[in-house]
Order: sequence, then C-alpha cells, then structure tokens
Amino acid sequence: MNNFIMKTWAEINLDNLYHNIKVIQNNMLNKTKIMAVVKADGYGHGDWIISKELNSIGIKYLAVSNLDEAISLRQHNILCDILILGFTPPSAFHYLQQYNITQTVFSLFYAQELSKYACLSNCSVNIHIKIDTGMGRLGLIENMFSNCLDEVIKIYKLQNLNIAGIFSHFSSADLLDEESANFTITQKNRFAILLSQIKMNNIDIPLSHIENSAGLLKYHDDNFSYARAGIALYGVSPIQEYNINLKPLMSLKSVVAFIKIVHKGTSISYGRKFIADKDIKVATIPIGYADGYPRALSDKGFVLINGQIAPIIGTICMDQLMVDVTSINNIKSGDIVTLIGSDGKNIIRFEDISKLINCIPYETMCLVGKRVPRVYYKNGKKVEVTNYIHH
Ligand SMILES: *Cc1c(COP(=O)(O)O)cnc(C)c1O
Repeated sequence: MNNFIMKTWAEINLDNLYHNIKVIQNNMLNKTKIMAVVKADGYGHGDWIISKELNSIGIKYLAVSNLDEAISLRQHNILCDILILGFTPPSAFHYLQQYNITQTVFSLFYAQELSKYACLSNCSVNIHIKIDTGMGRLGLIENMFSNCLDEVIKIYKLQNLNIAGIFSHFSSADLLDEESANFTITQKNRFAILLSQIKMNNIDIPLSHIENSAGLLKYHDDNFSYARAGIALYGVSPIQEYNINLKPLMSLKSVVAFIKIVHKGTSISYGRKFIADKDIKVATIPIGYADGYPRALSDKGFVLINGQIAPIIGTICMDQLMVDVTSINNIKSGDIVTLIGSDGKNIIRFEDISKLINCIPYETMCLVGKRVPRVYYKNGKKVEVTNYIHH
C-alpha cells in the first residue's frame, strides 16, 4: 500500500458500501440480483477497489460504460461478468474475446458486424440486447410505432453470438410527477410485453434488467433478474425526496495552507469578484477546479474547518481557493478542511453542492479529479491508497 501526502485527498468508506448494498437489497424483492454499475471509475470512487469489495460480498455482475474500463478491471484481476453498456468500435471487437467481456448490442446492424467478427475469428461473443423503450439513446426501438421482435429474432439467428441478456433503461424513474411515473410504467410494460413475445417464439434469453437506482428504489419490481444499481451504491439517493438511509462513501478533504488577516477593501482572487467589506481572516486551501471542485461554486460554496462552516470567497482557481475563516477560532496551518463529508455536527453532501450550481450529484461526484489520491477505509482502518499521478 502506498501512502499519500496529506494535502488534498478523498476518503472512501468501504463499510458504507456494504451498508448501501443491504439497503438496496432490502428495497428489492428476493429474486432480483444487483448488477453493480462501476462506470466512470466507479463514479469517481475507484472502480477496481469498489469492484473487488463488491465481489467479496457476493456481487458478481458489473457494468461499465466502455471497453477501456472493462479491460482495466480485468487487468486488476476482476474475474466476474462485466457488461459494457455502451459502444465498442468493431476495430476493437477482438478485445471482447481476449478479455471475456459481454457487449451490449443495440441494433441489428451492429449485431451483424459483431457476428461477422466472431465467425471469422472462430469464437463466440457474449451479448446483452439493448431495447429502447423510451430513453431515446441506444437500442432496438420498442414503442407504439415500432415493435422490435423481428429484429430480436434476426439477432438470435446470427452465428457465434451468445445472447446472455436483454435490457432497457428508464429515462425518468427519478422524477416523482405523475407524467414521469406513468412513462416509467409504460417503459416497463413495453419491455415486459416484448419479453413475453420473445418467450412465445421459443427464444430463451437468461437475463433481463431495466431498473436503475431510482427504478429499484421506487418500483421494487420482481419481473426481471437483475437491477443495475449505480449511484445508490455510492450512498446518494437518485430521488432527493427519498431519504432511504444510504450512507455516502466519499469525503473530500484538504488542509489549511496559509492564513492571513486582510483589511476592509482588499480584493481576493481572479477578477476581484470578492472585496472584503470589513477586516477579515482568510485561509487558502490547496484544492481547485483541476481537482474537480467546480469553479461554479465560487462565492457560493462552503467548507468545514474544526467543525465550523467557512464560506468560499472569490473565484475558485485551478489549484486553490480561499475561504473566510474570521469566525473560526484557533485555526492554524495544517488543519483539515472538509469539502464533502462531515466534521463535528455539520455535513456537506454532493447533493448540497450540486444544488448550489444547478447540477446533479452524479456530475459533482465523478468530477473529483484524477490527481486526488483515494484513501480507502474499512472497519475504521486505512486499507488502501491509490494515486493516479504516481504509483
Ligand atoms: C449509468 C447507468 C445506470 C446506473 O444508473 P444509476 O442512476 O446511477 O443507478 C444503469 N443503467 C445504465 C444503462 C446506465 O448508463
């Protein structure tokens, strides 16, 4: 285990992953299993460590966005099933075979290309067929104008493809208004009807899945074999109004580098957007937008130091930001600064900073930069450190 320099870092609490799995499982009916979505480096948490941990607690199906992510997991000795949810270019099909990775097939044409490749290289490729029931992104189109059963049958007849699963994706399961809820049910019905048509044609596709975190938390369905849990694993509810006792895994920490008193009228940072209206105490913190702390939080965000709230003043720089620490007693260089996470009675969540800048916790979470070391804790003990800059 390499160590890390206590300057700016992210702490990942693996015990909370275990807790969240339990919460998710309690929200699902018994037959459904969890497919863990670890794309985008496990939503910024470090994909292979999260995957190892998931494997060790019995979660044996992973989903990623692309081939690079899948190969990286294999290189870290993750041996379970891995599904690529997105596009893999035909020029890279051989990696699917080499690393035994399951590919999403989203059109008849794409299936034909993959089948052609598999026949030429005399191998069989595992696929899941993607059905577009209303997301409008990828998949065979299934709606009131289009029935894709024929295409599924044609894919089924292609050589050297093993159809291990079929799935669809909700567009609005996280929204609570009636129209969104109705649309989610429509999507589910379209998918369920297609599945029964497939069955009636004696085509056996072992796995089916449609629910994301919002879907599984809100609809608790038992008709499908898997649910694809992403953000809920990491302890954030996709539905703000649902307080379901998920515990966030990640805290983002930095330290106080420098403290000074500035006089009334002094300007702070680029563009002089902040001018002190009285004498104040200012601390400089070595974290900026290059670490994934959004510049949009300039003059809006806040941090915790010694359990107290300190507002960000002026423009957030690439590598540093300034906070007003006038009201924080006994502050000194080296004190820990919490940008995400709890300190004393206060807590700042990804949800909180996202709301301030009109984006979603998915975005702020996966933005946490690659120069921020991840420090992993289990049973209160530091168990692993990863550093993308040097190893
Ligand atoms: C990202 C993604 C998920 C996970 O969504 P969450 O809302 O994070 O649970 C599931 N399915 C697909 C196809 C995705 O792209």
